[in-house]
Amino acid sequence: MTYIPSPQRYSQMPYKRCGTSGLKLPRVSLGLWQNFGEYDNLTNCKEILRTAFDAGITHFDLANNYGPPPGSAEENFGKILHTDFRDHRDELIISTKAGYTMWDGPYGDWGSKKYLVSSLDQSLKRMQLDYVDIFYHHRPDPETPLEETMAALDLIVRQGKALYVGISNYRVPQAREAIALLKQMGTPVIIHQPKYSMFERWVEGGLLDLLEEEGIGCIPFSPLAQGLLTDKYLKGIPDDSRALKVGDFLTPKNITPDVLAKVTQLNEMAQQRGQKLAQMALSWILKDERVTSVLIGASKPWQIADSIASLDNTQFDEKELAAINNILSA
Ligand code: NDP
Repeated sequence: MTYIPSPQRYSQMPYKRCGTSGLKLPRVSLGLWQNFGEYDNLTNCKEILRTAFDAGITHFDLANNYGPPPGSAEENFGKILHTDFRDHRDELIISTKAGYTMWDGPYGDWGSKKYLVSSLDQSLKRMQLDYVDIFYHHRPDPETPLEETMAALDLIVRQGKALYVGISNYRVPQAREAIALLKQMGTPVIIHQPKYSMFERWVEGGLLDLLEEEGIGCIPFSPLAQGLLTDKYLKGIPDDSRALKVGDFLTPKNITPDVLAKVTQLNEMAQQRGQKLAQMALSWILKDERVTSVLIGASKPWQIADSIASLDNTQFDEKELAAINNILSA
């Protein structure tokens, strides 16, 4: 059936400026790392994307290697884009990345100009797009000179294949250097994508400060620690959960007694706040105004509305913050 987006889609979602750029992002964005690959159900993928757009999520995040197999998330997204969202391209912020292993041989990985330029060409073909809104270098390359990788990002923008660029997984010193190089070239670097959740807090040790100083936005990924920071694993491992899916990013081994003890206490706190744990985990990130948008994943359409409800309460008092720190540091 032809998809007609909800006319109310822009009335509830807040949009926040990405650093000091001209671009605003929804405070909740959707990533397609998992659940959009070749073995996933295309109808479910479509429903997740429609539900997200209807709720005001205008930003969809991809990468060359998302699937599995690598490339299949971009292909599926391209298909759905062209059946459902063709008339709405100008309402969407689509990002992709290169930096992890994509094809065999010396040109399908890391950070050379050769890899980045040809990978983005492939991504554009898979998604049937002329350009992406944001192109990221996915992870730092210890061997390629940073000047070359950043010059590749600059070239891509000048070729009109991306409007803005970003960096992901760069620690503070490398991020500082990369941003300086990009600014020298006049490249529109607007965003950093780090891993950040209650369980993974390295960004608090200087990255958020650096991004604020530099006027760069921040879009944390895996804010629910891939689903650990929800109530789903409290009574065993559900059959349809990521922990039992193909792939080794989250496995039953990660669901340790220590993790479950913390999640149980956090879940009680969330209930006291009138939230579900998933919502409190997202609110906890969104409380920091230096965070532009929180980048969630979803395996089912209902999870979208459930996660967006985190926006109803992003305030924490000192007592709550201290209690959370106590639980996490135990
Ligand atoms: P999350 O931490 O949000 O985990 C998503 C998973 O949590 C879902 O698949 C689902 O698990 C569960 N979930 C989501 N919402 C709810 C809810 N309301 N209630 C209960 N469970 C819920 O994020 P991801 O790890 O998926 O990462 C998000 C995005 O970040 C990726 O798609 C990608 O775009 C980006 N990313 C970037 C990386 C980088 O290196 N730059 C690396 C990794 C991710 P289940 O499947 O079990 O239902």
